[in-house]
Amino acid sequence: MAYKTTYPYTGEVLKEYSNATEQDLEQALTTGHALYKTWRDSPVSERAALLHQIAGLMKERKEELAQAMTYDMGKLLTEALGEVDLCIGIVEYYAQNGEKFMESVPVESPAGRAYYAKQSTGVIVAVEPWNFPLYQVVRVFAPNFIVGNPMILKHASICPTSAQLFADLVIDAGAPKGALTNLFISYDLVSKAIHDPRVAGVCLTGSERGGASVAKEAGEALKKSTLELGGNDAFIVLDDADFDKVKEVAPGARLYNAGQVCTSSKRFIVMADKFDEFVANLKEGFANAKMGDPMDPETVVAPLSSKSAQEKLQKQVDTAIANGATLVYGNEPVKGDGFFFQPTILTDITKDNPIYNQEMFGPVGVVYKVNSEQEAIDLANDSSYGLGNTIFSSNREHAQKVAEQIETGMSFINSGWASLPELPFGGVKNSGYGRELSELGFDAFVNQHLVFEP
Ligand code: NDP
Repeated sequence: MAYKTTYPYTGEVLKEYSNATEQDLEQALTTGHALYKTWRDSPVSERAALLHQIAGLMKERKEELAQAMTYDMGKLLTEALGEVDLCIGIVEYYAQNGEKFMESVPVESPAGRAYYAKQSTGVIVAVEPWNFPLYQVVRVFAPNFIVGNPMILKHASICPTSAQLFADLVIDAGAPKGALTNLFISYDLVSKAIHDPRVAGVCLTGSERGGASVAKEAGEALKKSTLELGGNDAFIVLDDADFDKVKEVAPGARLYNAGQVCTSSKRFIVMADKFDEFVANLKEGFANAKMGDPMDPETVVAPLSSKSAQEKLQKQVDTAIANGATLVYGNEPVKGDGFFFQPTILTDITKDNPIYNQEMFGPVGVVYKVNSEQEAIDLANDSSYGLGNTIFSSNREHAQKVAEQIETGMSFINSGWASLPELPFGGVKNSGYGRELSELGFDAFVNQHLVFEP
């Protein structure tokens, strides 16, 4: 694949990069492995101090990091700036909590004295997607940095500028060479890296296809893997919901990042008596969402990340309609060279519609009408995905009771999706396995080394 920055607002190729070679990979593995050996014996406080320096430099280079993301994959500059802030928070969170997370844990045993020490395991390969070019990297880089696991990054081929900018920043902030090596490598070299004995594990965020392929390699090489894949998250409006709040949140829960978020609300599930009002409100919200220049702070809907993403989404919407879905709003071609997709609303998607169990990665909302809470829960669970969901109810206990019946890794009550440094992020079913962020994310590639004396 060719690594290049193509600005989705204009279609113009801004920058192209040469692919890394096998020698580049070998060099990265050698440097990373040597650093792992050094880091094993150095205090965590040194790495925590470096993370603080990295966060400081991210603050200084915030505009540059944000603009690179907008040029790479088209997101709104306002959202890109927010992404940098979130990432600074993640880096600082691990800088502040790293030493505590690394402490040995005593184990109660009637048979003797036991504890487990937390230790690094080696170089980690991170395969990351384009939808949050910085966040996806930082949420695996920061915890592994504190643990002492150097990282080799294979970022999406459409966001090479963001990838290189952050890797350079890490070194400029004073981190040792090998702490984060960005490589523009082919899938074959990713596979080669996974099989290399110096590599301890691999994490991937992306599609089911990419995840299955990387996990297969990891399985063959007996390496640990974590996968954060797609979602088809339900937005459930219970009959005791604060409907004004629902109306305020729903459009943005779908349109943020032009709908290209694994935890976007993609399936709105609404009780029959509120269905028409909900659809009318969503339509108004989508119609008022201004598409345009991602650098303009007034713009609400950015272009999609690539021409192929636009074409794939168009095919999915066409398939949905050809199989009986009702087009309530949108799906009009958008003039110009940008990879835009008009916000679109579909209803009447039946179980036999091929789109029923597909994730649509763009600004397309599907609304379902249900007659009971049980029907809402069953519909939410009738998916091969299990990432997140949103539940609206003015009764917290009621919302929590429903949340726990949904087969997902995350539930958000009376709000759209959220991601914060201290909240574990991840899913079940085809949405992947493992958790990122929080102390759970920190533990992903840690050796919990038991020491026992009878
Ligand atoms: P991919 O899974 O193809 O890409 C994600 C990352 O994996 C990229 O770095 C990609 O590299 C890499 N990759 C893919 N296959 C392999 C492989 N066999 N070996 C090594 N690396 C691999 O996702 P897409 O970008 O194609 O997006 C398609 C769909 O994925 C979306 O429509 C959405 O459903 C889902 N997705 C989910 C995301 C999430 O946040 N959970 C984020 C992005 C996508 P390269 O770019 O070079 O192909």
